[in-house]
Amino acid sequence: MIQVDNIAKSFGGIKAVDACSFEVAEGSITGLIGPNGAGKSTLFNIVTGFLKPDSGRILLDGDNVAGVPPEQLFHRGLVRTFQTPHEFSRMTVRENLMLVPAGQRGENLLQSWLRWARVKDQERQLLDQVDDVLAFLNLDHIADTLAGNISGGQKKLLELGRTMMTDARVVLLDEPGAGVNRTLLATLADAITRLNRERGYTFCVIEHDMDLVAQLCAPVIVMANGSVIAQGDFDTIRRNPQVIDAYLGG
Ligand code: ADP
Ligand code: MG
Repeated sequence: MIQVDNIAKSFGGIKAVDACSFEVAEGSITGLIGPNGAGKSTLFNIVTGFLKPDSGRILLDGDNVAGVPPEQLFHRGLVRTFQTPHEFSRMTVRENLMLVPAGQRGENLLQSWLRWARVKDQERQLLDQVDDVLAFLNLDHIADTLAGNISGGQKKLLELGRTMMTDARVVLLDEPGAGVNRTLLATLADAITRLNRERGYTFCVIEHDMDLVAQLCAPVIVMANGSVIAQGDFDTIRRNPQVIDAYLGG
């Protein structure tokens, strides 16, 4: 579904990503791990259109989309979350979920605002979709709480919920487990698994929590110094001496 083909990106003299190639297969939950500074976030920013690579290609369904802006990728079903959640703290959880399609379909709504019946239908659909997401992620009990007042873990779930309000096919998650307590981590892992199995989402996940990686991800891609040093199932890569070296030397 996504092919990262020989991507390079430098900042000043620093090669953040260098000759990096790997694939995210449709239907997979592909893990992306590696020590701090390995280039994972830079690569995510390139794949999602937030950064232009110096060279190389990003193929989405076979088309080179390197340098294509995020909003266009969004319309092709590629969305991401950020390491630090981007919620609107003075709106409720429910309102945060409603924002996503409003911004996305705003033009259509505006164009058809006289056709009330259709607008009402869309509103109904939107509310139903929000209810579905709230239930799916176990957030219904805090639906009317201000997003600024919910826990860090709940904010991560809300981020995932916002991707569910789009027509996402492939979702890139940057450290979904960071700062999330054990209970919510289980909810999060369960939600990701079910989105993958029941709703056909493909995921690429940067994660430092190795329990979560072991539980969720196949295959696991290991990056160090800007390129891929190993890939395969978790049990294989965790025994790989180069991987152990990269983490120890990190
Ligand atoms: P990771 O997410 O794996 O920890 P990053 O992609 O954040 O790694 O960083 C890779 C390297 O690129 C690091 O050496 C980092 O300091 C550098 N880097 C990342 N973003 C920038 C930037 N905007 N400007 C300068 N250097 C950067
Ligand atoms: Mg990072």
